[in-house]
Amino acid sequence: MSTRPRLFVPTDLMAGSPVALDENQSKYLFRVMRLDVGDEVRVFNGRHGEWLARVDQILGKSAGLLKVDECLREQRKLTDLHLLFAPLKKTRTDFVVEKATELGVEVIQPVITQYTQSERVRVDRLTNIVMEAAEQTERLNIPRVQQPLHLIRALEALPSDRRVYFCDERGDDEAAEWGGELNRARPMIDVLQDHGKGSAAILIGPEGGFSPQERDVLRKTEGIYPVSLGPRILRAETAAVAALTLYQAICDDWRAVEDGTGLDE
Ligand code: SAM
Repeated sequence: MSTRPRLFVPTDLMAGSPVALDENQSKYLFRVMRLDVGDEVRVFNGRHGEWLARVDQILGKSAGLLKVDECLREQRKLTDLHLLFAPLKKTRTDFVVEKATELGVEVIQPVITQYTQSERVRVDRLTNIVMEAAEQTERLNIPRVQQPLHLIRALEALPSDRRVYFCDERGDDEAAEWGGELNRARPMIDVLQDHGKGSAAILIGPEGGFSPQERDVLRKTEGIYPVSLGPRILRAETAAVAALTLYQAICDDWRAVEDGTGLDE
């Protein structure tokens, strides 16, 4: 396990190129990690793989320069997985975006539904969380956190070939607890095994779930697949982690042998 610090940088990466550090990165490397000139850092930008760089200049406590040395890992094909979720209370939303980053999500799309409680989403703050999580989790890019959209707008914005797995904990029997067994969604594991790998999105509702009108639209829309995560009602953040885990384990990169293939530039 490498102990070299790992940083996301926006600049192009090639042997000999300079990397200017921002204030936070300089404070982290020079104050917290106490690096000196010549010490090694790993850098990645989401396009050119991961490179070894060395501290070239320390310009006071809040600036510095690295010099890129050699490529450590080629950029690899990444999963094509989106997460659509209704924003939750602050710490729980932070948890969802951090775990979604660790679980390989490419796009995080907050969706506003009828019962969403926290419509305000600080995208800049969530982007910092996903950047730190991506550095820690050793992935080669940063997921995109989008501005919140109304549920229907967010679904309309998805390309038609992206399957949407709508995590639906209810049945349709109004007289029974949680809708009883009537029209209950199929187990997610079965639906994923039928479909296999592809462009996918996972949709998670708010603490109060989806409204009957929303469920009706979701269940009637082609390309949207209601799926069950078992007989218990999971908290939204638990459901997000469970569904993302199932998807990666059955359809995507938890099986993938790192093939090292580069991205199409
Ligand atoms: N509707 C319930 C309520 O009013 O408390 C529960 C909503 S649950 C806390 C939040 C979201 O997690 C749901 O909208 C659904 O997307 C997902 N979820 C929770 N348990 C689930 C299950 N057993 N199967 C599928 N999705 C589930």
